[in-house]
Amino acid sequence: MNAAVYLRKSRAEEFHAEDTLNRHREILTEFAAKNRITILRIYEEIISGESLCARPQMLALLADVEHGDYDAVLCMDIDRLGRGAMSDQGVILETLKAAGTKIITPRKTYDLNNETDETFSEFETFLARQELKAIKRRMRRGIQKTIQEGGYIANAPYGYRKTVLKKKPTLEINEEEARFVRMIFDLYVNRGMGCQRIADTISAMGAKPHRSDRFGRTSVMKILHSATYAGQIVWNRKSKVKTGQKWTETANPKEKWTVVPGLHPAIIDRELFERAQAIAKTRGHPPASKSVRNPLAGLVFCAACGGTMQRQAARGGDCLLCRKPGCTASSSLFAVESAVLKQLRPLMEKIAVERRPRPGGPAADNEWDRAAKREASLLERQKASLYDLLEQGIYDPSTFEQRKALLDAKISRLKQAAEARPRPSLPKHESTVSAYALYRGLPPKLKNLLLKALVERIVYRKEKGAPPLSFQLQIILKPLCL
Ligand SMILES: [Zn+2]
Repeated sequence: MNAAVYLRKSRAEEFHAEDTLNRHREILTEFAAKNRITILRIYEEIISGESLCARPQMLALLADVEHGDYDAVLCMDIDRLGRGAMSDQGVILETLKAAGTKIITPRKTYDLNNETDETFSEFETFLARQELKAIKRRMRRGIQKTIQEGGYIANAPYGYRKTVLKKKPTLEINEEEARFVRMIFDLYVNRGMGCQRIADTISAMGAKPHRSDRFGRTSVMKILHSATYAGQIVWNRKSKVKTGQKWTETANPKEKWTVVPGLHPAIIDRELFERAQAIAKTRGHPPASKSVRNPLAGLVFCAACGGTMQRQAARGGDCLLCRKPGCTASSSLFAVESAVLKQLRPLMEKIAVERRPRPGGPAADNEWDRAAKREASLLERQKASLYDLLEQGIYDPSTFEQRKALLDAKISRLKQAAEARPRPSLPKHESTVSAYALYRGLPPKLKNLLLKALVERIVYRKEKGAPPLSFQLQIILKPLCL
């Protein structure tokens, strides 16, 4: 790895600048040698200017970075690189990012093309004064210490209650719920049941999660994946990241997790837990459907590396970018979408879509119908799992009869209510619109579906340093549309 070293004294070091810079040079050279980093050049800022123009070495460094000379810039800490007017820091970060150049400090490596790191480094350069850093570290240290010692600081998960042991927050078993946790693992590992069936089964037996009405596929999956039940504390699974005004959560890689034995008792043993993890891996559950915010999701591929181009929220509007650091230049998502639409327009205008007008009755009727149907199918499923429970000997016949009678009564009440309700009159006319006209009013998720119905893939090409709108798209249509 080829790197440049950037040395600059801070304001506090004004009086013994020479010593400080020498010491820093030594530390960084040693660090580079240890980490197999080749230093090509050292940029040493003698004058301490607050703005970029008063920092000739920084300007020289940026010019070389832009030229693609370095894989990384080595410096003591990140705010030495970016102190000064905010706009200047923007230029520095942008230049490093565009060139795919990393920032390496003895404490941490910042990859600006990694969303998490960029926000972090922006945060540090823009806002970090020493005090703020100290406060944050102190707070984190307190929480970290509790976790390291096996304490549990979040809300109690299903199967547990919060308690305090030797002045540390931890958990105690809530037996009423814990028996369902054991059952979930048992049904999954030993009886091969799927998460939905398990959810229905335990719901039929009266289990109710802490913060919702009934167990679903996802909440069962979450329990099966939680090492808390095997007596462990897992922390740092997610990072909260601020993009613009919004906080978003990103999953951390497993190496970053903190895993320690908890102070709390386990509900199931380690072996059973590991077996559940192994099964979950082979079954490959689809991720819980998250709302699609990119109409081009999964459709656009980078011409340079073949990877999928992804949406990234940015201050000036969403971007579409290649996830490989330093690969193809990104573009405005909206611009790419518009270009795709422009090319597809003739085709989309030929496709007529039937649009059924909304029913004449109040909209709530439809809602009601759907809710009732959901309820009915849930009850039917619960009934089906009752038979399983009887067969497997989990229920004795009398409990079974009791539960079945209860469910039957609920089902017949629901049917009666549905029949007693006046039907809304069905609208008579159906209209057709072109797929193109329809597209504009759709939410991103449906736009995505519509595009996926027509397009196989879109190859995106853009030269580095090209003007914002000069990208090329090659649209490959589905065979049916040719
Ligand atoms: Zn790429």
